[in-house]
Amino acid sequence: MAGHKKVKNIGRKSLQWTTLILLAYMVIRLWINPNYIADFEAYCPFGGLQAFASFSVNNSLACSMAETQIFMGILLAIGIILFSKLFCSYICPVGTFTEWLGRIGDRFHVRYQIKGVADRLFRILKYALLFVTVYFTVTSSELFCKEYDPYYAIFTGFGSDVVFWMALTALAITILGAIFIRQFWCKYLCPLGALSNIFTNVIMFAAVMVAYLLLLYFGLKISWVWPLAIITVFGYLLEATRLKGWLFPVFKITRKEQSCINCNICDLACPMGLEIAHVDVIDHIDCHLCGDCIQACPVNNTLQINKKEWRWLPSVATVSLIAIGLFLATTIELPTINMRWGNDRQLATASIFSQSGIKSVKCYGSSVSFANKMKRVPGVLGVETFVKSHKVKVLYDPKKLDEEQIRKSIFTPGKTLLHRPPADIKEIAVVKMGVDKLFDSYDAFYFTQLLRQQKGVFGFSTRFGEPVKATIFFDSSAIQPSGLKQIIEQPTVTYRSRGKTYTKPIRFKVTDATDSLRFIKPQSFISSMFQPYNKIFNKYKTYRAQDLQIYQIAMPQALNPRFRRSMSLLVSHLSTDDFIVRFQTIYKERPYARIYFVRGKTDVEHIYRALTLPKLTVHYRGGKTGEVKNPFQFSEKGLVLKIGSKKTLSSK
Ligand code: SF4
Ligand code: SF4
Repeated sequence: MAGHKKVKNIGRKSLQWTTLILLAYMVIRLWINPNYIADFEAYCPFGGLQAFASFSVNNSLACSMAETQIFMGILLAIGIILFSKLFCSYICPVGTFTEWLGRIGDRFHVRYQIKGVADRLFRILKYALLFVTVYFTVTSSELFCKEYDPYYAIFTGFGSDVVFWMALTALAITILGAIFIRQFWCKYLCPLGALSNIFTNVIMFAAVMVAYLLLLYFGLKISWVWPLAIITVFGYLLEATRLKGWLFPVFKITRKEQSCINCNICDLACPMGLEIAHVDVIDHIDCHLCGDCIQACPVNNTLQINKKEWRWLPSVATVSLIAIGLFLATTIELPTINMRWGNDRQLATASIFSQSGIKSVKCYGSSVSFANKMKRVPGVLGVETFVKSHKVKVLYDPKKLDEEQIRKSIFTPGKTLLHRPPADIKEIAVVKMGVDKLFDSYDAFYFTQLLRQQKGVFGFSTRFGEPVKATIFFDSSAIQPSGLKQIIEQPTVTYRSRGKTYTKPIRFKVTDATDSLRFIKPQSFISSMFQPYNKIFNKYKTYRAQDLQIYQIAMPQALNPRFRRSMSLLVSHLSTDDFIVRFQTIYKERPYARIYFVRGKTDVEHIYRALTLPKLTVHYRGGKTGEVKNPFQFSEKGLVLKIGSKKTLSSK
């Protein structure tokens, strides 16, 4: 068992400490500032390489991925081919942590080094983990490694992306493994370690990829899973049989036999437990060019890099690669999705419309939603989204669409009730205003927060225009249009959500407000705010008007959009009675539900019981039924209305 000797490798220690201090800074900042969004994966090259694989296969980036990770990943690969695993040695917090933990094992003489066949066999674990991680990342467009990564689990406090049992198991193995077995995580479990060693065998990697691309080029449809499987299997076999790379990395530790005094201090200093003192070139696949052996060697210039006095090279290369990665990440933005559904002929003559500031396009999921929305617009042929800058590009047929129509189709009009008007109010003031920078759903959310905090503002609706047209409903005895303008044009909005307070910058600008002031009845306000819900079922149209009656009952929850989503459940539940045939909401001075039923076949008591049952019986597609908690409350009994004397029924 080789023990670890403490070495003053200042370049390496500085970079390791810098990484840990930056992480600690992110954690502390997260504690003290709820507006701060800590992205602990922001610079992870492994996440970047997974995202790059996902991007290459699906033309889409994993949600949480940005260019920074991707360029870090690409530079990691270049760094390994040239200099070996510098990230593992100088940056990786798990590597640093496990290396330091290993010293506890050494102090109590309980740390062992796995050698021989067992060492070679155990190495398969990290390749298996690599295959599974890349497979699930590419198939889901989400970083699978977040589910078990001990680093991510710790720094996010076992956040929502983390699968608790997987991360806890990985953490326990990492800690115990580090204490009892030399660099257990790095040598045997780390999927980035496996990927790094594959890049050390870059000739194999390149040969498989070239063969795969040629087969694709010649028309063979081969799944990306095959090259992934072949590369991981070959990667393991090469590592297990040779324990060294093929030609690469370019830079390696070399030993001058003439000056070596065979003191073995270098062997003791090596964190990976490699034998250095009796070889001329350290080409072992576990060497990550940390330089601890060089620093520990008592005879100057006996251990070198490529027989040169370049002991500064690994630290300088690490810093340079990071700087290049950050520079590229700030200058180049890759699309999160790049989807085309027009044919080649249409795409050849397509025009491109770009729009920035679409804050609701913020990840893969919202990008796909955006693409689905645009697919429904005749003449749109494809979209690209760029989540970092919240930019979208829309490819369209200029013969069928113009830019204004595209902007109109991107825009989602809305209606928001902020406060119920008091019962004694006689009239409600209405003002229309153009509001610049009020375009996407995030803007609408901030706009809502601003107005909700103002007493006397009851609601607003928006429709497309340039700028967007907002109609605001308010109590003119509490506030005037000029006051509304002042509120809307504030530079920031502060609001609370899930127990935290947030402050966000906003840039709304009001145009043409005051001259449009008018007044309406409170009842008109309520009915203008809501789109009635209306469903017919159980052969509604086969009945004559005189066969039916209406049961009308107050439904206060119909004002809440959250409950509106559950109305289909209530309708499904009511449809169990073959003689209930229609459900409708109406918004008068109060919101009501209207339930149409067949006279003499069912009755009001039965319907009321069905409405107030604690559970709703829901019918799903495919004939299955289930029960869900009834979210609705009907506290009044309601009344029966007659339908007019029409002979036939309309569904409107
Ligand atoms: S051989 Fe030297 S450079 Fe390589 S890992 Fe060991 S101590 Fe670091
Ligand atoms: S520490 Fe230096 S002198 Fe001692 S064995 Fe290693 S290379 Fe030779």
